[in-house]
Amino acid sequence: MKTRRSFLQKASISALALSLPTIPMISYSKTQSDPLFNQDEKPLRVAIMGLGSYGTRVAQAMKDCKRAKLVGLVSGTPSKIESWKKEHNIEDKNCYNYENFDQIKDNPDIDAVYVITPNGLHKEHSIRAAKAGKHVICEKPMATTVADAAEMISVCDQMGVKLLIGYRMHFEANTLEVVRKRRAGEFGEIKFFQGLSGFIIGDPTQWRLDPVLSGGGAMMDIGIYSINGARYMIGSEPLWVTAQEVKTDPVKFKEGIDETIIFQMGFPNEVVASCLSTYSMNYLDKFYLNGTKGFAEMQPSTGYGPIEGRTHESPLDNPHVTHQTTQMDQMAAMILDGKEAEIPVDGREGLKDMRIIEAIFEAAKTGEKVALV
Ligand code: NAD
Repeated sequence: MKTRRSFLQKASISALALSLPTIPMISYSKTQSDPLFNQDEKPLRVAIMGLGSYGTRVAQAMKDCKRAKLVGLVSGTPSKIESWKKEHNIEDKNCYNYENFDQIKDNPDIDAVYVITPNGLHKEHSIRAAKAGKHVICEKPMATTVADAAEMISVCDQMGVKLLIGYRMHFEANTLEVVRKRRAGEFGEIKFFQGLSGFIIGDPTQWRLDPVLSGGGAMMDIGIYSINGARYMIGSEPLWVTAQEVKTDPVKFKEGIDETIIFQMGFPNEVVASCLSTYSMNYLDKFYLNGTKGFAEMQPSTGYGPIEGRTHESPLDNPHVTHQTTQMDQMAAMILDGKEAEIPVDGREGLKDMRIIEAIFEAAKTGEKVALV
């Protein structure tokens, strides 16, 4: 099956081969001089729930983590548990299936559960983890409705556990450089953002095209990157949305599954974001930010990297580090040490995107401008 992930990976590899002779790589060695690494401190001990394609990527990336360690597994497939146990050296007592998972509450050797299951299961899985007293890291989109997202936040608050959303770009070096420059006023007054997010989706039987498991089509999966990106690149929250939907294949993209949505978001001071979310076009992974004194452009902007781009002054050339390695180390520091993310990744950040997605769906359906209040 050709997935977005394999596509993005192939796309960035070919871009690499074509345009970049050498990519600087950070050597990610565990040294005591690194503030994230303290030999005396325990790492964040994480169980991954959902051993699918992205779970596999996260687990591989965690092998290089300084502060986070994969110690547990949750899967409905015994053969996956067996092979993962061997590869990642996981103890039997830290392995669960979806039926006995709640017993994780009695396991003192697991601090956090990383929910990497289909979107429609995030709410149930996150709430079960929180009620077992575990910190929750949940993949994007955090839920399939605003109400579910709000409930997840409320349960995590009540249980006194953290809820973090897998927004890996919030820790990516070139992204952070652009956000820091924008905060420092280097682009002047921000005027406009463009976000293009899409790929051609394959297998029509996959859960991403099932409305119950996905909660929507391209928007929940890939369009969310343009929504979230517009917010962190512009640095404020949208006041309204408008949207137009295009559907060329109503069989593959059935009711409840958006194929292509073009949408606009209006921010304070008449700043506008113009975005595209699609499951029907490849080569769409691009951000452009325009201000009175300059610009930033990134392409690819949210793939697995290396993220490439430039500002009006210079190329963005921070060394590439596997996004999920940085994300998990930073999230460990947030959970263990109370560190704050430069761009928030908590449940309330995820809820903001969910509100915008619901407003975009409403705008696409009604043709009306929808206010976000
Ligand atoms: P996947 O289909 O490869 O994996 C999903 C896993 O969930 C599988 O192991 C599957 O067995 C398991 N699962 C448990 N209950 C299931 C059920 N009832 N139906 C179907 N599968 C069930 O999907 P994926 O690409 O790994 O995506 C998982 C989550 O990760 C999604 O929420 C997706 O949006 C997110 N994701 C995030 C990124 C990122 O860059 N942050 C990238 C890819 C996927």
